[in-house]
Amino acid sequence: MVATEHYPLSELTTMRLGGKARWVIEISNREDLLEALDFAKQQNLPWFILGDGSNVIAGGDYNGVIILNRITGFEHIDEDDSSVTYRIGAGEVWDHIVERLCALELSGVEAMSAIPGRAGSTPVQNVGAYGQEIADTLIELEAYDTQTGTFVTLERDDCVFSYRNSLFKNPETRHHIITSITLRLNKAWMKPPFYSSLESYLSKHAISEYSPNTIRIAVIAIRTEKLPPVDQIASAGSFFKNPIVTSDVADSLLAHYPDMPHWSMPDNRVKLAAGWLIEQTGLKGFSKYGMAVYPKNALVLTNVNATSTDDLEKFKTEIIAAVQAKFAITLEQEPENLIG
Ligand SMILES: Cc1cc2nc3c(=O)[nH]c(=O)nc-3n(C[C@H](O)[C@H](O)[C@H](O)COP(=O)(O)OP(=O)(O)OC[C@H]3O[C@@H](n4cnc5c(N)ncnc54)[C@H](O)[C@@H]3O)c2cc1C
Repeated sequence: MVATEHYPLSELTTMRLGGKARWVIEISNREDLLEALDFAKQQNLPWFILGDGSNVIAGGDYNGVIILNRITGFEHIDEDDSSVTYRIGAGEVWDHIVERLCALELSGVEAMSAIPGRAGSTPVQNVGAYGQEIADTLIELEAYDTQTGTFVTLERDDCVFSYRNSLFKNPETRHHIITSITLRLNKAWMKPPFYSSLESYLSKHAISEYSPNTIRIAVIAIRTEKLPPVDQIASAGSFFKNPIVTSDVADSLLAHYPDMPHWSMPDNRVKLAAGWLIEQTGLKGFSKYGMAVYPKNALVLTNVNATSTDDLEKFKTEIIAAVQAKFAITLEQEPENLIG
C-alpha cells in the first residue's frame, strides 16, 4: 500500500479547487481497502472515499485519508432469454462500462453515457440521465460496512433509492464503501416515448433504430451541447438542486411567468428548473472571482481561474442572492462539500 502525503485536492476533484489532502491512498482490491482503513485508524485520522471527485467540492486542506477507489472488474454473471448480468468493479470508469455494454448491444445504461465518475459512485446519488437511472438496472452491490466491519451484499431495495438519493448519500445512513455493483441489462432495446430532449434529437435526425449505441451517440451529442467537457473545463456538473416548492408557490410564480418550466411531483409539490431561474436573473455567462456561469447551461458553474474555494463561495452566494431577490426561492448546492 502506498500512502502519498500532502496531495493537491484540485487534482482529485473536477472543480479543481481545494487545498491539500494529508494522505491519499489508491486501492485496487478489497485487501487494499482494509489496509487503507487501518492506516487511517492508526493515524487517528478521518477518511473519505473518492471516485473521480466529479460530485465533490474540496474546501481547504483535508486532514485525513482520501481513499481513491480503483477496484477493477467486469464479470459476466448470468444470462437468460431477456437479460444479461454483469458484476462491475467499483473503481471502473463509468463511461468505459457504458461503452462496453453498448458494444454488447445491451440496454439499460446507454442514456447514462458520458456521465463522469466511477461505477461505484453511481448508486450514491442514484445517478441518472435522459430517462434512465442506476436504480433501474442495479440488482445488488457489494460494500464494506464500516459499522460492522464486514463485507455485505445489499439488494436494490436495501439501497433506499429515490431521485438523486440513496442510503449511501444520506448522512444519517451512510456507512458503506461500495466495492462492486451488479447490473442486469436488457437484451430488448429502449422504446419510445423517450425523454423530451432525446426524443427531439432522434426525430430531428430521423433516427428510428434505437440500438444502445445509437442512443449513446445521441446522448453524447446532446450532452456536448450543454455540458462542459471535464477534461477541458473545471466544473462539478449541475451545481444547484432543482428546487421543490409547494403548489401555491408554483401557482403564484406561474401567474407572473407562465412559461416557467415546472414538473408536478406525486406529493402535490412542484419541481422547478434551477438553471431557468438563474437564466431569468440575467446571470447566464456571468463571470467573477475566476468563476463563471456556463454560457450554454446556467445550472453549471465553471472554474475559469479561481484560486480558492472562497472564490467559488463568493460567486455562489451572489447567484443564490440574485435568485432569492427575484423569485424568493433559495437555491441549494448539489455537490457535496469535502471539509477537512
Ligand atoms: C460535467 C458533469 C456532468 C454530470 N452529469 C451528471 C448526470 O447527467 N447525472 C448525474 O446523476 N450526475 C451527473 N454528474 C455528477 C457526477 O458525475 C456523478 O454524481 C458521479 O456518479 C460521481 O462519480 P465520482 O466517481 O466522481 O464520485 P465522487 O465525486 O468522487 O464521489 C461522490 C460521492 O460518492 C461517494 N463515493 C464515491 N465512491 C464511493 C464508493 N465506492 N462507496 C461509497 N461511496 C462512494 C463519495 O464519498 C461522495 O460522497 C455530472 C458531473 C459533471 C462534472
